[in-house]
Amino acid sequence: MKRCEIEENITKFWEKNKTFEKSVEERSGDKEYIFYDGPPFATGVPHHGHILGLTVKDLFPRYYTMKGYKVDRKWGWDCHGLPVENIVEKELGIKNKKEIETMGITKFNDEARSKVLYYASEWKKTVRKMGKWIEFDNSYKTMDQTYLESVWHIFKTLYDKGYVYEGKKVLMYCPRCETPLANAEIQMDNSYKDVTEKTATVGFKIKGSTDEYLLAWTTTPWTLIGNVAIAINPKLTYAKVDVFGKKYILAKDLVEATFKDYELVEEFKGKKLLNIEYEPLYEMDTDGKKGFYVIDGGDEVTSEDGTGLVHMAIYGEFDYVQIRKHDLPVIQHIGPNGLLEKGPEQWKGKWFKKLDGEVLEDLYNRGLLVEAKEFTHSYPFCYRCETPLIYNAVDSWFVDIQKIKPELVKKAKDIKWYPENMETRFDNILETAPDWAISRNRFWATAMPVWKCECGEQKIIGSIEELQKEAIEKVEANVDLHKHVVDNIHLKCKCGKEMSRIPEVLDCWFESGSMPYASKHFPFENKDWMKDHFPADFVSEYVAQIRAWFYYMHVIGVLYMGKAPFKHVVVSGNILSEDGSKMSKSKKNYTDPNNLFEEYGADALRFYLMSAQVMRAQDMNFLDEGIKEISRKLIMILANVKNFYGLFGKENKIFDNSSSKNILDKWIVSKTNKLIKNATKNLDEYNITKTCAEIMDFVDVLSTWYVRRSRARFRKEGKEKDEAVQTLAYALDSLSKVLAPITPFISEEIFHALRGTNFESDISVHLEDWPTYDEKKIDDVLEEEMLNVREVVSRALDERVKVKIAVKQPLAKLTVTLVDEIRDELKQPIMDELNVKEVELKKGKEVAVELDTKLTPALEREGAAREIMRKVNDLRKKTGLTIEDRIKIFVETDSELLKESIKEFESDISNATQADKITFEKNEGKEFTIKEQIIKINIKK
Ligand SMILES: [Zn+2]
Ligand SMILES: [Zn+2]
Repeated sequence: MKRCEIEENITKFWEKNKTFEKSVEERSGDKEYIFYDGPPFATGVPHHGHILGLTVKDLFPRYYTMKGYKVDRKWGWDCHGLPVENIVEKELGIKNKKEIETMGITKFNDEARSKVLYYASEWKKTVRKMGKWIEFDNSYKTMDQTYLESVWHIFKTLYDKGYVYEGKKVLMYCPRCETPLANAEIQMDNSYKDVTEKTATVGFKIKGSTDEYLLAWTTTPWTLIGNVAIAINPKLTYAKVDVFGKKYILAKDLVEATFKDYELVEEFKGKKLLNIEYEPLYEMDTDGKKGFYVIDGGDEVTSEDGTGLVHMAIYGEFDYVQIRKHDLPVIQHIGPNGLLEKGPEQWKGKWFKKLDGEVLEDLYNRGLLVEAKEFTHSYPFCYRCETPLIYNAVDSWFVDIQKIKPELVKKAKDIKWYPENMETRFDNILETAPDWAISRNRFWATAMPVWKCECGEQKIIGSIEELQKEAIEKVEANVDLHKHVVDNIHLKCKCGKEMSRIPEVLDCWFESGSMPYASKHFPFENKDWMKDHFPADFVSEYVAQIRAWFYYMHVIGVLYMGKAPFKHVVVSGNILSEDGSKMSKSKKNYTDPNNLFEEYGADALRFYLMSAQVMRAQDMNFLDEGIKEISRKLIMILANVKNFYGLFGKENKIFDNSSSKNILDKWIVSKTNKLIKNATKNLDEYNITKTCAEIMDFVDVLSTWYVRRSRARFRKEGKEKDEAVQTLAYALDSLSKVLAPITPFISEEIFHALRGTNFESDISVHLEDWPTYDEKKIDDVLEEEMLNVREVVSRALDERVKVKIAVKQPLAKLTVTLVDEIRDELKQPIMDELNVKEVELKKGKEVAVELDTKLTPALEREGAAREIMRKVNDLRKKTGLTIEDRIKIFVETDSELLKESIKEFESDISNATQADKITFEKNEGKEFTIKEQIIKINIKK
């Protein structure tokens, strides 16, 4: 059966027995492990990054469940914001915001609601296939009325505490979506692209001069239409140069880079330029304010690039500060929809980006354009609609981050990060955070609960009850708090007039950041419950969420509850395609996760991801070969060891045999205890990669050394066999528990195989307690000695290859030189593995091995007997016999060597091949060459 089929059967077994539900219910709740699962969007299908997140967020809840904690897990969906809005726009063929308003917001929002859970069933399938346990069907949604009501309460609380204000600021703005975006949104999704555009070096003619110009440079020629001033640095040295009769003023250091032929007229400090007036490039209504002169821009004006004179328009953060400071005219020549509103008649209504060419041509014709050069720079684009963003001065609502910053930094110290260095990154983000723009001029999100009156009064509503009380219209208890509904509700102002809601909705990060409370409809419900369920013990997301979800959750946690909202964070890296590029659906540079499930099963995929550097917040190139290797080196080997146990351990009911004196048993018991000890420590520290590495190592030595060297004992009867079986059962049972959180399927399979239940009993490894270890059972010296033994064996095997004597041919003696002593008992596994009659141990300065390669007739006979055993067992396999089938062997040979060999080792051959009798007789069997002699062998049941 394929792994995915086995896994499907186990999933059905869990579903039938409600194993997940039991794993939560059966824990008393005295100890709880609180975990927030960040809600994903269901507007796309889950990709590798999601699968990584789903696995981490399954692993630790399972681990803590086994450690005796109650771990409630409930799925959630992120429903609002641009991702959904843009899907709806595409579907309805909407080109701009105006069309939405014409069509009606009700229709738009209804459409959005219908699309939000479009891929939910795909997600459910993936979650189920991965073996992720979570209450999926009763998921909370960020569009639920209860969720929105909590968000209102949070907003109002923050407002009442004085942390929310309204103001005009220069923000990144999408002229197509007609909304500002937060810095984090832009940086998170890697929205910057390199673009090559024409820049403009432009002369601004000094008033009253004949042909004297201030020279400025810009990467966005369309902003020149709104120019209001030119900023210089008074401390810099400027030069006036004569270029074919025209005189230009620019920073001295930049003259060479700007002109080839020029004559220096004079040099002076920038101070001299202050207040010089120039002729505006385009006539503009300045609303009575003075503009078009040189201002002091301070040290931010440099002579590093451009001309050392900076053209000022409202479309820049620095510009806006200067405009406010110098009380310059505020000219927003581009409308909120990105089209020219003010300026030359012939350009009105043109898209701002199209104006670049128009302006360059116009200035050239007027003799003002000194240079237009191609320039490559990194430019931000809207992460959903890919329109170039602009800096725009917009009215917005803000959370006053500056005011709370010291507290944010202080409370962040309560958070433990994995990997640790993420703490510094978070601190840097906090230290440099701007105020948070929380209003959006969009439709499908939580409506901001702010009502205003023309008398200047404003009211913030924090609950449905409050809305019912204050509203003029009748408000039902089940009122939808989305924009298209609450826009129709008005409040009574104390001046007697009607108050209307402001048009904005909330940033959806405000909603995600409110998840710990809003998903529980706090404080309207679960008020007591929250007391001992906050903050969360654990959250995990990939690096980009440090400045997004983690940051916003922290801000709201500190402002609303006075605490950091989570205690432990695991940060993962980015998953890239095989060649290190971004995974891209259109480039088809990765394998569909569904195909990987199909091919290797979820366990292999889970373990592959958990063992990778991506779990240490580093980027990972996802290799299909990597899962294949896990499938081969871990899953297949475990399945083989489990099957091996199944052959011999049927009657066994004991999973512990620490009394065994056998050196291999003692050793694997030590290794097992150490595995449990280290896994506990590492998982407590959220170090999952280290846990995975140690599991891989354990499975390797269990299979290639312990089982391999114990095979002979399994075939025996009585105490020796019992000890081997029970010890292997103990090791496998412990291993199944250590593996359970990481690879839930194969661990369940091993757990059931050990108990011979055939999945007919409702027991489960996932209902078990995390295994404990006994420090006294850990024998570091023995483990060290065994390492030496394996080193010796590996060298001696190399030696055998060199002298071309196969292992099945016994040799008389191996002489081993060791640096550190090993106990005499360890000679036996060396003798067994290398097939030598004697091992002599010596001590020296370095490890060395020496084989006695002389073959006596007796050794030859034994070697021949071994080969015969193997041939017979091959025949058994080929004829499809099972381990219980007894056989009769018939041999025919003229070789004296082989005849003698068979006689001498008759009982050994019989034991090794489950034969009752060996008869010399002419037969129709298969012909073999052994020791260059011909022999025919036939077997019968
Ligand atoms: Zn956009
Ligand atoms: Zn009023």
